[in-house]
Amino acid sequence: MSAIILNGKSFGARLRERVAEHVAGLKTEGVVPGLAVVLVGEDPASQIYVRNKGIAVKEAGMNGWEYRMPAETSEADLLAKVEELNNDPAVHGILVQLPLPKHMDDTKVINAIAPEKDVDGFHILNVGKLATGQKAMVSCTPLGCLLLLRDHLGDLSGKEAVVIGRSNIVGKPMAQLLLGESCTVTIAHSRTKDIAEVVRRADIVVAAVGRPMMVQADWIKPGATVIDVGINRIPAPEKGEGKTRVVGDVDFESVVEVAGAITPVPGGVGPLTIACLLANTVTAACRAHGLPEPEGLAV
Ligand code: NDP
Repeated sequence: MSAIILNGKSFGARLRERVAEHVAGLKTEGVVPGLAVVLVGEDPASQIYVRNKGIAVKEAGMNGWEYRMPAETSEADLLAKVEELNNDPAVHGILVQLPLPKHMDDTKVINAIAPEKDVDGFHILNVGKLATGQKAMVSCTPLGCLLLLRDHLGDLSGKEAVVIGRSNIVGKPMAQLLLGESCTVTIAHSRTKDIAEVVRRADIVVAAVGRPMMVQADWIKPGATVIDVGINRIPAPEKGEGKTRVVGDVDFESVVEVAGAITPVPGGVGPLTIACLLANTVTAACRAHGLPEPEGLAV
């Protein structure tokens, strides 16, 4: 039987509508959530991300500011910009687009952001809060995966979850979030022995690896929910010479026949990341002003 396709575009749109409704409510209290995005250098992919974030912020009715700094900007100048934004009460969320140019220390810059404005959830204090079960700003992609899982499965308590990948931005926070939902969590990675056997016991599989179509149908317990975070570009000669297409870390065509539900790539997890960035900005604004947080958009 074919799995339910978890449509990230429509779920992301629903999240964004809820964010926009909450923004409208905040405006009646005299609060306009504001997100400042800082981009250093001319990386083409980062420019597209930043542009899309700017559009989404405006659509949600929030204030948005973009600061583009040349690639040769000194780390001291970037830190000064971060400090200026930390001290600006109209700015509730600060996002410094990664990767930064090689002469800068990503960790130092991220940890210079005021933790309560760290809407990417990468600040060491937010990572620690998440790990110890305290209210935190949570990394947007894993937060989006969790909201999608809750929406589809309801109570996650007691479920076996396997997260494949242990990066700081996806795998580890995803595992922490699932632990927070009382799942029994296993993290698999490149040194895991017999990974297929490990994944086969999971009710929930989250693949965040960066290896095209690695997860095969015979790794999946029938009926499991499969979340594919991977974004991999592979050659697509069928579309013409030199053409490419985007695939996930899961072999969708075969896994869809075994899983109970699965996210496609593209159109699965991708659209949830920006929606959660908006949600985190609203949450940050509510916390800054001591107002009720939007329900179901934060942990
Ligand atoms: P990283 O490269 O930082 O981490 C990859 C993880 O996968 C590592 O922990 C690595 O293990 C593990 N891994 C690599 N090869 C294997 C293997 N053969 N078997 C098991 N585990 C393996 O990637 P990210 O976490 O940043 O991203 C993962 C994927 O998600 C990428 O495709 C990325 O493009 C995508 N992504 C999508 C987002 C979105 O949808 N918005 C946002 C962020 C990422 P080890 O630690 O042992 O090396």
